[in-house]
Amino acid sequence: MSDFELVIIGAGPTGLFATFAAGLREIKSLTLEELDFPGGQITELYPEKMVYDMPGIPRILAKDLAQKMYEQATMFGNEVRFNSKVTDIKQLNDGTFSVEINGSQNITCQAVLICSGVGSFIPNKLGVDGEDEYAGKGVFHSVKVIDEFKGQDIIIVGAGDSGFDWANELAPVANSIKILQHNAVIKAEERSIKEALDSHRVEIKLETNITKIIGDGQKVTAVEIEGKNGKETVKADSIILAISYKIEPNNFKSITLQTSGRYIKVNHAYETNIKGIYAAGDIANVADEPKFNLLAVGSAEAYTAINNVKKYVHPTSSLFGGHSSSLNL
Ligand SMILES: Cc1cc2nc3c(=O)[nH]c(=O)nc-3n(C[C@H](O)[C@H](O)[C@H](O)COP(=O)(O)OP(=O)(O)OC[C@H]3O[C@@H](n4cnc5c(N)ncnc54)[C@H](O)[C@@H]3O)c2cc1C
Repeated sequence: MSDFELVIIGAGPTGLFATFAAGLREIKSLTLEELDFPGGQITELYPEKMVYDMPGIPRILAKDLAQKMYEQATMFGNEVRFNSKVTDIKQLNDGTFSVEINGSQNITCQAVLICSGVGSFIPNKLGVDGEDEYAGKGVFHSVKVIDEFKGQDIIIVGAGDSGFDWANELAPVANSIKILQHNAVIKAEERSIKEALDSHRVEIKLETNITKIIGDGQKVTAVEIEGKNGKETVKADSIILAISYKIEPNNFKSITLQTSGRYIKVNHAYETNIKGIYAAGDIANVADEPKFNLLAVGSAEAYTAINNVKKYVHPTSSLFGGHSSSLNL
């Protein structure tokens, strides 16, 4: 007897909607997420941006959408477990699966739905003194709550789209913002650059690097920077590293999933080449068809996958579970 009927990998938007659909279809599921928060790319990459293309929601702040998706995901009591990276999947002799979490703990299940998106986010680093010591204490890789930066002197490293987006979002609340770029190349939309310069709180320093992050033991207080005029120490409360992420694809060493480019190949039931393992969202693609990496698309794929999982774990059940509007919750 397996611990769960279904393990869902990833609590990004697709995994969250899959968790909701699993609850709706009365599938005993467990969702495993390596980060300590739900929402995947929404929360990690663009929490303060507006989203306009969710059906029935004309506009919503991305982090609010992630929160609502989490609320919906857990409304039937299906568990989402954080700090739980799936490190391997093994197929057992009876066709069920053993899912390895964080390299040690194992959980058994009848089916697996992979919603791991672009994979694991590994933030790029500067590699300077103070960076690790002050991680989370003034050194950040993204902006999650704008108000936490109120009145601050902020250094943003990286003059790309993310760097300028954050500068523009923070400009109304910050005391000062400096965008540093190691070379003389700005790779951001012209509209964003103009908005930043018009705000008069944003200064752009090209050919400038951080050489050291300085703090008082508790938090960042300054940075040492080196530019065309040599080294100087600049007061800073926060340093935001907009220098992108390495995306580490998932490699479940005990199974071989067929891929198409960077995608796990699925059929129209969102089943992979291994019976009982499904994939949906940004990680999956129906072989060689055009793919649209969008929230609404991932949700539809998750719903389709879950209906097929239901039929797989309960062969006598119907494929289509009916309309939620027929329920009286
Ligand atoms: C800047 C930006 C703006 C965007 N704006 C929009 C928009 O306006 N509208 C729109 O429709 N789409 C937008 N998108 C795209 C949308 O965010 C993605 O399509 C969506 O996030 C995909 O969801 P997902 O759950 O498939 O993957 P992800 O969001 O990548 O989530 C995957 C989750 O799986 C977790 N995970 C990965 N590997 C493991 C593992 N081994 N074990 C456990 N957990 C794991 C990750 O930590 C992550 O939480 C935007 C994307 C970006 C980058």
